[in-house]
Amino acid sequence: MKQKLPLLLDCPRAAEFCDKVEYHEMDWTGKLQLRLHLLFCADCRGYWKRNRKLTQLLQKADLHTCTEQEKRQWQQQLQQAKSQESAP
Ligand SMILES: [Zn+2]
Repeated sequence: MKQKLPLLLDCPRAAEFCDKVEYHEMDWTGKLQLRLHLLFCADCRGYWKRNRKLTQLLQKADLHTCTEQEKRQWQQQLQQAKSQESAP
């Protein structure tokens, strides 16, 4: 995003705002600025959506404590992800 308008955030600031909104640390002017930026910037929209999903997942996970079986499944998934990363 190359235009310089005082109201519009740049991308790094927009990402910062996304995080703050998720943690309810943003006032309405910040939210408005973020919304404006998201209208114009597809990259940040993508970031915003991923962020939302992650928060929702975390909230779901917090609703109940994990059983031992679930913990083991998570560990297996993590290990699989790691071994895929290190594969050539
Ligand atoms: Zn952006």
